[in-house]
Amino acid sequence: MSFRQTLRIIGVLLLLLRTCTGFTQIPAHIKAAAGKIEITPKTSVYLAGYGIGRKSTGVHDPLSARCLILEVNGERVAFVSCDLIGIFHRDVEEIRRQIKTLTPDHVMISATHTHSGPDTLGQWGPNLAVSGVDKVWFTETKHEIAALVDRLSTKLEMATLTCGVSGDAPPISKNIRVPRILDREVGVLQINGTSGNSIATLVNFACHPEILDTRQITADFPAALYRTVETKTGGVCLYLNGAQGGMITADFDETETPRGQNWKAAEKLGSDLGNFVLNFLPQLKPLTPKTLTLQHKLFTVPMENPRFIALTKLKVFPPELIKNGEVETEVNRITLGDCELLTLPGEALPNIGLYLKTKMHGKFKFLLGLTNDELGYILTPEDFVLDLYKYEASVSVGEQMSPRMIENLLSLLTSQMSQGKKTLSP
Ligand SMILES: [Zn+2]
Repeated sequence: MSFRQTLRIIGVLLLLLRTCTGFTQIPAHIKAAAGKIEITPKTSVYLAGYGIGRKSTGVHDPLSARCLILEVNGERVAFVSCDLIGIFHRDVEEIRRQIKTLTPDHVMISATHTHSGPDTLGQWGPNLAVSGVDKVWFTETKHEIAALVDRLSTKLEMATLTCGVSGDAPPISKNIRVPRILDREVGVLQINGTSGNSIATLVNFACHPEILDTRQITADFPAALYRTVETKTGGVCLYLNGAQGGMITADFDETETPRGQNWKAAEKLGSDLGNFVLNFLPQLKPLTPKTLTLQHKLFTVPMENPRFIALTKLKVFPPELIKNGEVETEVNRITLGDCELLTLPGEALPNIGLYLKTKMHGKFKFLLGLTNDELGYILTPEDFVLDLYKYEASVSVGEQMSPRMIENLLSLLTSQMSQGKKTLSP
């Protein structure tokens, strides 16, 4: 019997029990497990994020994939955050196919967007016509991430959740295009075991991890965030980036040292964010979801970027990226009681993030950028044509990307509302 069949039978039995006993509500059973693996390449690799042909010369701090699995009344979701620049949908699907213990579209795979990790997309190789991806390392890494998820599925323990969003993040991020458009919210989801032990701390905050630009592999500021939180709590810390496109980046004194070499700033920003999260933990509110809901939507967007088209033809990008002139990608909406999470398949500009938050229903709103895909910058058509965003537009699928993404996210938000209305009507 497959895992899905077993789950379905358990679901039917629970429903029967509910009907027979006349109970209208079964208390929620929340379970969780979290863990991490190191994914640092063992040999020199092409680094992603800046120019081409940057081969790594060493490792400053290890890269990791961190996973949290939550289960509410038998329904599971996995959040995986990787210290990588981005992961194409095709590679996300490859990881999902190897996972045996969760429905594929219940696995959310995010990249932190570090600019000092291996090339996972292809465009930073020795020259423009050759992929920079170390295929042996990447294939093995995808396999190990799937194995991590399956391993954690066998380690679920009873858990309690607390959650909060603070609008008062420490001043560590800035918008270098339009300074006033800045989302300074930090979302925190804390998962504890029944004895009060920390299982995981999920941190949602928008900022490019691009303080460093040496040939050393590093997770950038999230390395210090992980260390600060984990030393204190003992649980696993996950950093999930937000709508950090065009151009939300770290705020520090850039005159101090030559560009890209300010290790002290990376340490300070990460630990400032970590200490902020630790101080915020006592203010989190208990989350008692009766259900975990997941909505998943695939959609296509016309590929209009001539450079992306050329890179696909050259097989620097995966050849299956473009089908009939379009790319296929996805968005998701997850609710855990008062906590609502939307996934974005790339780097949405902050105005889009702020707009989406006004349309969300949850008390605690999380936007997970660079999740289940990395299709570059996501700009509104109005921003797309501005000189100000010339660079972002050149690293974007096209003008239709944001309208299609927003339309699909709004349809998830409204379909949930109409379901709610149906339940309320007699
Ligand atoms: Zn970026």
